[in-house]
Amino acid sequence: MTTVLLDAIGQLVTNDETHGGLLGLVSDAAVLVEDGVVRWTGRSAEAPAADRRLDAEGRTVIPGFVDSHSHLVFAGERGAEYEARMTGTPYSAGGIRTTVAATRAADDDSLRTSGRRLVAEMRAQGTTTVEMKTGYGLTVFDEERLARLSRELTDEVTFLGAHVVPPEYRGDADAYVDLVTGPMLDAVAPFARWIDVFCETGAFDVEQSRAILKAGLARGLGARVHASQLGPGQGIALAVELGAASVDHCTFLTDGDVELLASSSTVATLLPGVEFSTRSPYPSGRRLLDAGAAVAIASDCNPGSCFTSSMPFCIALAIREMGFTPAEALWAATAGGAAALRRTDVGSLRVGARADLVELDAPSHLYLGYRPGVPLVRTVRTAADWLLTDVTRQD
Ligand SMILES: [Zn+2]
Repeated sequence: MTTVLLDAIGQLVTNDETHGGLLGLVSDAAVLVEDGVVRWTGRSAEAPAADRRLDAEGRTVIPGFVDSHSHLVFAGERGAEYEARMTGTPYSAGGIRTTVAATRAADDDSLRTSGRRLVAEMRAQGTTTVEMKTGYGLTVFDEERLARLSRELTDEVTFLGAHVVPPEYRGDADAYVDLVTGPMLDAVAPFARWIDVFCETGAFDVEQSRAILKAGLARGLGARVHASQLGPGQGIALAVELGAASVDHCTFLTDGDVELLASSSTVATLLPGVEFSTRSPYPSGRRLLDAGAAVAIASDCNPGSCFTSSMPFCIALAIREMGFTPAEALWAATAGGAAALRRTDVGSLRVGARADLVELDAPSHLYLGYRPGVPLVRTVRTAADWLLTDVTRQD
């Protein structure tokens, strides 16, 4: 077992409350890593001995971002739809069907290649844990395929057969729900950890959504919900009722929704890139935080409503447009994302956590919002990288 000390850290964000404050900040810090796991964090002057030493040269070190909501395995692109939105056409859920058609026509290798490319793009921007959803297949064959390909890229695979009703079931959504909760769930469940539903006008109503989530729960999957993106609805209440790990979007929140979220363990996952890219009103993160709700920030990277893979961009938006403090936004993009995935091994640098460490070329975490759009991520190391013999290489 080799121990590695990442030393000379200007500012360390641990999300470990034993260091004080929301972010557990330590200045002039070091992290001791053993076998890809955090063994110690603290002041550099008090660091224990290690087999090897790495020099962070005064940079800021944060836990890798946990992006708890994305759609990365798909074919085609929808730049023209973006242009239409920016020139006056409002967003509707129907564009998903464009991506469904392109994805069904694509072979495994091209889907695998484009998915890998997006995961690499995320990692270069500091994301070390990513959830990804099916939902561009919408047949038993294609949903199984997307889940299997996603599983090659992450452990956090979500079955979203209930993304929209596919064209061949138009006018008979209940028959499609039967397919999703029957043969499609059977085919996808071996690859998935979660089940999700788009509970929204134009997608699935609350009774259909309840049936879908309950079928997944009965198969041992955890529940997640897309809700209240295009208008207020019953999806948030449903998510809380069923003990979902997360309800995502929450663009249109009622007072009742906020109360329910604050009194539950369901995380409200905000997706500021979606409001940005669809020119929609931003929900108030402040309102949720002040009520005591657990809040995460994720990218929702997808080819339609939001094609950013950048968590730093989402953090900057959350600070600027949603009332987060810089500390709250970074917490929501790391520890909040981990909570939304019910994970305790990522999203923080507590002792025992995975050593997913990101070095920022910045004197403090404030630069994530202070220098929006600037590539501050210098080095990304995940737990597996610490086990490599060339971990000392500076890249
Ligand atoms: Zn989504």
